[in-house]
Amino acid sequence: MESRYYDPEIETASRDELRSLQERKLKAIVQHAWDHSPFYKKSFQEANITPDKIRSLDDITRLPFITKEDLRKDQETHPPWGSMLAVPMEETQRVHMTSGTTGTAIKILDTAQDWSNFCHIYARMLYAYGIRKTDMVMPVFSFGPWIGFWAGWYACQEIGCLLFASGGMKTEQRINALATYPITVIGSTPSYAIHMADTARKNDIDLAKKSRIKLSWHTGEPGAVIPGVKNKIESSYGCKAFDFLGSTEIGPWGYNCEFQSGVTHVNEDWAFPEVLDLETDEPVGPGGTGELVLTNLDRRATPFIRYRTRDIVAVTDRSCPCERTLFALEGSVLGRLDDMKKIRGIIVYPSRIEEIVREFEDVDEFQVVFKREGDLDEILVKIDPVPQLDLNSLDAFRDKISQSLQLGLNIRATVEILEHGSLPRWGHKAKRFVDERKDIPF
Ligand SMILES: [Zn+2]
Repeated sequence: MESRYYDPEIETASRDELRSLQERKLKAIVQHAWDHSPFYKKSFQEANITPDKIRSLDDITRLPFITKEDLRKDQETHPPWGSMLAVPMEETQRVHMTSGTTGTAIKILDTAQDWSNFCHIYARMLYAYGIRKTDMVMPVFSFGPWIGFWAGWYACQEIGCLLFASGGMKTEQRINALATYPITVIGSTPSYAIHMADTARKNDIDLAKKSRIKLSWHTGEPGAVIPGVKNKIESSYGCKAFDFLGSTEIGPWGYNCEFQSGVTHVNEDWAFPEVLDLETDEPVGPGGTGELVLTNLDRRATPFIRYRTRDIVAVTDRSCPCERTLFALEGSVLGRLDDMKKIRGIIVYPSRIEEIVREFEDVDEFQVVFKREGDLDEILVKIDPVPQLDLNSLDAFRDKISQSLQLGLNIRATVEILEHGSLPRWGHKAKRFVDERKDIPF
């Protein structure tokens, strides 16, 4: 019988087995960083730590944290690759860049082995969703410097899938490919999946009927865990949609499996997780919420040791029907420290606003503006409705959204219904949230 697991010896390992593997890998990466990365040597010296002091996994807390800002500064001071680079240039094989939605783009280099490890872990996640060698896959992606679906491509190749490249294609050409070929899987940002389905609909093509897609995976934005977005993608394509948790810095680190039980399995043999209390930085246990700090154990060109992801997550010991023994989170990433907004003293997560607004089927697109009127912070939610919305029911529609926001956020938001088509349809890293306030709390 076919195994449910891609790496059974890891995905069902005992805690002791995992711990000893992690310990061995941690010692090796710390030694490697000390020996070859001027950045880490300096930072370990400043923290008065040497590799021989890392004797067990618990000693990880003696190592200093790093942040995206540290990396950005390092690359500015030592252009273009930074002093963090821990291998000779001739050993590097790939460079990828963060999308640079905030600040300058960060460059991340990989050796051939790093990249092969990266793609293997990616394949483990795709396999857990249910992707098999019998599938035909189209990553709907431009294949630019963003790491996005690059590794997904190689991961599918490792599984043995048939791959269809759609990099330079227009949306209409991609839709045509989906209607023509037996493509069973797509990978894209959630926004683009919705945009492509809407475009198909405008051309009278129902992709749920015309395509053979059974599964989709999404990254780049948190959309696929927002019930409204997930439902929209699933009904538009007649598929099961999966959220892919990963970043350019750390790589693929978390996934939900075929059961979609709400448990996120963490690839802890690849990315060692710590979840730290938001106030004290002390580790939290099952039931606790904190910032996810990850150490990549298998990437040598640009090592990431105790990287503060700014992602807020909740630890769980709830088991999943798949019986994986890996470290688990309840739900997905709950919010981003960077994204948290303080409005009239209340913490508001933009993702929560999106969740509420997307519950309404008559919402086609939306934008949220945080602004200050006099001394008071305001949330303005602009709604771009579907074209068939009954114009006589606009007031009732607006009131219903207002009430849901008030209930869900514990704070009043102003809702404005625009004419259909007033807002742009955003692609990758949707800019749906604008903060117009000059001095932002936090
Ligand atoms: Zn599972």
